[in-house]
Amino acid sequence: MEDRMAKIDLSEISHTYNPLDSKPTYALNPFSMTWENGKRYAILGPSGCGKTTMLNIVSGLVRPSKGEILFDDNPVTDLKTEDRNIAQVFQFPVIYNTMTVYDNLAFPLRCREFTKEKIEERVKAVSDTLNLSSFLSSPARKLTADQKQLISLGRGLVREDVAAVLMDEPLTVIDPDLKFRLRRNLKEINEQYKTTLVYVTHDQNEAMTFAENIIVMDQGEIVQVGLPKDLFERPKTTFVGYFIGSPAMNLFDSEVLTDFEVKVESIKIKTNSNLSKLKDKKVKLGVRSEFIDIAENEGENTFKARVNRVEDFGNFKLITANIGSKVIKSKIEREKPVTEGQVNLYIPPEKCCVYVDDKLI
Ligand code: ADP
Ligand code: MG
Repeated sequence: MEDRMAKIDLSEISHTYNPLDSKPTYALNPFSMTWENGKRYAILGPSGCGKTTMLNIVSGLVRPSKGEILFDDNPVTDLKTEDRNIAQVFQFPVIYNTMTVYDNLAFPLRCREFTKEKIEERVKAVSDTLNLSSFLSSPARKLTADQKQLISLGRGLVREDVAAVLMDEPLTVIDPDLKFRLRRNLKEINEQYKTTLVYVTHDQNEAMTFAENIIVMDQGEIVQVGLPKDLFERPKTTFVGYFIGSPAMNLFDSEVLTDFEVKVESIKIKTNSNLSKLKDKKVKLGVRSEFIDIAENEGENTFKARVNRVEDFGNFKLITANIGSKVIKSKIEREKPVTEGQVNLYIPPEKCCVYVDDKLI
């Protein structure tokens, strides 16, 4: 394949590791998705939700139980990894210890018979980006664990001819400062070379700071695909609301009162959601602590809450309070005074997310 990048389609894919069992369990439930050329994606979800399985299906390490993978509309489902033009970086370094750093980085290019000049140019570019230039002539075994992982990363990035670089929690063994810089470097590489990058992580901050598109997974399902802003403001399920954001989204068991109102404890809260078909139903009201503020006066969607704790985080204050038996968290400007004991809190109707069976309506 000369053409270096590809649109990647996952069509009606599902996967079980125990297909012969009378009741197979599915690591991935049926889904379809497209990864566009040259974009940055993060696959985000807790351990065991199917992230690695999804990545290995794209690279060819795992053959899906059902469905097809297409690169630029050509089926590759039956192609081996070597024939797919994919670079994959794993959680732990995969390098040749006895070779020099230079030879490790050059290896994927030598295998494909690039010219000596081209190899030199690419190894230089990648080693500069990853701060490995001064180690090029050292044997790889002499490097520290995180430098070894940089070599792994470099081997993934050195080829310009790949359809995508797939990275499975690649920075786990790397210290936080370096992690931050590397994510920025990866972004630059993506912008400069337009290489499709797919980054798997269980860490929301890594996902948010790296990707334009975040794929959130939960128990073998893709629960939401979107920009960081979408996941933050309109989580499609209570799981996303809970998993994304710090603190997690406030979620209250509540009852539908009127077309647009719910009741939390004894408080009426107006929302912007049409609830006319859900009269008397049990729902969950979700509101981010960032959108709940202290109000001076009483009024619509304003209620009294008992303050339990006020934490000063420097750039904001986090109030933990009670309404009846329920705990509510509110992030407020650090300059705002908080009266002891009791505060008036205000929830804007347009910031209310209402969930039925844990799904956003
Ligand atoms: P993640 O990368 O998100 O932690 P995985 O894709 O590794 O999740 O795993 C998804 C599910 O599939 C888990 O329940 C895991 O136990 C199971 N699983 C993963 N690999 C295998 C395997 N080789 N054989 C059997 N079950 C597996
Ligand atoms: Mg994994």
